[in-house]
Amino acid sequence: MTLKTRTALVTGSTSGIGLAIARAFAAEGANIVLNGFGKPEEIEEARTGIETEFGVRALYSGADMSKPNEIGAMVRDAQECFGSVDVLVNNAGIQFVSPIEEFPAEKWEQIIAINLSSAFHAMHAVIPGMKARGWGRIINTASAHSLVASPFKSAYVAAKHGIAGLTKTAALELAPHKVTVNCISPGYVWTPLVEAQIPDTMKARNLTKEQVIEEVMLKAQPTKEFVTVDQVAALAVFLCSDAASQITGANLTMDGGWTAQ
Ligand code: NAD
Repeated sequence: MTLKTRTALVTGSTSGIGLAIARAFAAEGANIVLNGFGKPEEIEEARTGIETEFGVRALYSGADMSKPNEIGAMVRDAQECFGSVDVLVNNAGIQFVSPIEEFPAEKWEQIIAINLSSAFHAMHAVIPGMKARGWGRIINTASAHSLVASPFKSAYVAAKHGIAGLTKTAALELAPHKVTVNCISPGYVWTPLVEAQIPDTMKARNLTKEQVIEEVMLKAQPTKEFVTVDQVAALAVFLCSDAASQITGANLTMDGGWTAQ
């Protein structure tokens, strides 16, 4: 158990990749702070499931990642409850697909706030504690879109490129303090976020659902397979291990070869 006695806060962990990472950390013995939206009964089921399955404690915060004051309050609550936040995963994210000239300005602002600025605000809040304790792990869920672009995803691609830059800067600042900062850049992972963007992509490109899956999504991935949430979670666990202590400032792809092209 690599994370026993540690506390891990995973933003956007009521679903998809974040939930898989939270559960994988709990399996390694970490106490968990879950965050995200969803049906209260389903969130409570996920929270209690983590506690009973893995014998750790799990706190839920409904903080909205587009609101800096709520992010600060979430970190303070976590620190009060568990004493520290040792691992931060900035994972909350949303998508919106549209040509730039039709892209609603408020959607742009919302994506930049949730997919990029929230990571800054959460880091701002956890870094003093990590420095004081001389240990920490910050993992940002970026995307293949932190390295390459696709049309109609301007805000998402801009935010993910921003996350990659923020990761490098934080890694340099924190290197002397035994705090590593990395991003994981998945290709297409089968989650509710991916499923939800199929209708808009069908509209934007005039394609059927099957065509979007085969000609847009998996077209980019030479392996022709979706990444799984458990594969992303396993890499996040590895990044928290001692074996990964010299990996910092890295942008680790898990994209079936997409960005090798
Ligand atoms: P998802 O929709 O399953 O999960 C997103 C999570 O973020 C949910 O828990 C949701 O409640 C939460 N969230 C959304 N807005 C929020 C807000 N304002 N405040 C707090 N929480 C909020 O999506 P996912 O596919 O698991 O995506 C997770 C991350 O992985 C995102 O950053 C996404 O960009 C990234 N990613 C996903 C893929 C993919 O193919 N699924 C690929 C690359 C990167």
